[in-house]
Amino acid sequence: MKGYAMLRIGESGWIEKERPQCGPNDAICKPLALAICTSDVHTLWEGAIGERHNMILGHEGCAEVVEVGNLVKDFKPGDRVLVPAITPDWNSLEAQGGYPMHSGGMLSGWKFSNFKDGVFSEFFHVNDADGNLAHLPDNINTVDACMLSDMVPTGFHGVELADVQFGDTVLVIGIGPVGLMAVAGASLRGASRIIAVGTRPVCVEAAKGYGASDFISYKEGPIFQQVLDMTDGKGVDKIVIAGGGVETFAEAVKCLKAGGKIGNVNYLGSGDSIEIPRVEWGVGMGHKQIVGGLTPGGRLRMEKLAALVSSGRLDLSPLSTHVFEGWEHIEEALFLMRDKPADLIKPVIKIED
Ligand code: NAD
Ligand code: ZN
Repeated sequence: MKGYAMLRIGESGWIEKERPQCGPNDAICKPLALAICTSDVHTLWEGAIGERHNMILGHEGCAEVVEVGNLVKDFKPGDRVLVPAITPDWNSLEAQGGYPMHSGGMLSGWKFSNFKDGVFSEFFHVNDADGNLAHLPDNINTVDACMLSDMVPTGFHGVELADVQFGDTVLVIGIGPVGLMAVAGASLRGASRIIAVGTRPVCVEAAKGYGASDFISYKEGPIFQQVLDMTDGKGVDKIVIAGGGVETFAEAVKCLKAGGKIGNVNYLGSGDSIEIPRVEWGVGMGHKQIVGGLTPGGRLRMEKLAALVSSGRLDLSPLSTHVFEGWEHIEEALFLMRDKPADLIKPVIKIED
């Protein structure tokens, strides 16, 4: 089979590989639509997870099941499915401890395009099919379905990590597709005010639609100063970080109220350490929490998030700004994600309807 792979750091292309084998609990799927992620960019061009040779890229898409193992109960060939970016081993101790995304070791629930071949190929392998796949609802199209692999689960996870409550003032740093879903999630959770940090007009427009009330440009001075100015010096209750680099944490701590929480879902592709400003961290006693997390994955969560889309509570159509048809566009879409033109939020490639 053909797959679009990372050949080595900074280099990608089409390769031929053996079709993966299906174990008793597994499924083999073929893509219906695929999306490119900023994480593919970090992995391929920044070498953020280290060197990989001939590893097929991609972890976002929806698919048709072509084969299942003899122990799989709820899926069969021909089923149309949502494919999660994170595919934990549900029998692991980490999953039993409440951290499926770290099953088998830190970040090890993230298998596609990390520890095994990803989804940018004619066929791909899904472990623990009953626990990881979810049926694609009839009223969700294949393009929107791609946003349920990672963008919705991750943006919403930022909101969970920040523990947004009714009436909170929430700051979302970075409003690419993940940050936009954090805005949507914070809004659904009942935030009273959502301050979004971002400048691309297409993202600002989308953020307004998802419930952002105020906007800040990180290009116009320190974020914390602008936030303090617009909150009468009080700061915010909760912060989701979904963009920027290691320097955003110090800014966040400076405009977070005592007792506030920062939920980071940003993949820190470079920089050695994160600075926490001593005084603004309450000289160590400010009850300001910082939690960073990989998105959880799992069928139940996928089905619940998909239900928000099916029921019309969450509109994903603003995210897919660039939709291509056919395998030959994978490379173009990947390079587009790296170059991030001003009108881009997310590129999607339709393979089959
Ligand atoms: P994106 O690049 O499209 O969006 C990030 C935005 O942040 C951009 O619009 C950028 O202009 C903006 N930005 C840059 N510097 C900034 C700064 N100093 N302050 C504020 N904003 C700044 O990326 P995305 O696709 O939305 O993904 C966001 C991050 O989440 C990426 O790092 C991605 O790899 C990561 N991610 C994590 C998980 C997870 O499970 N935790 C899953 C998927 C993606
Ligand atoms: Zn992704």
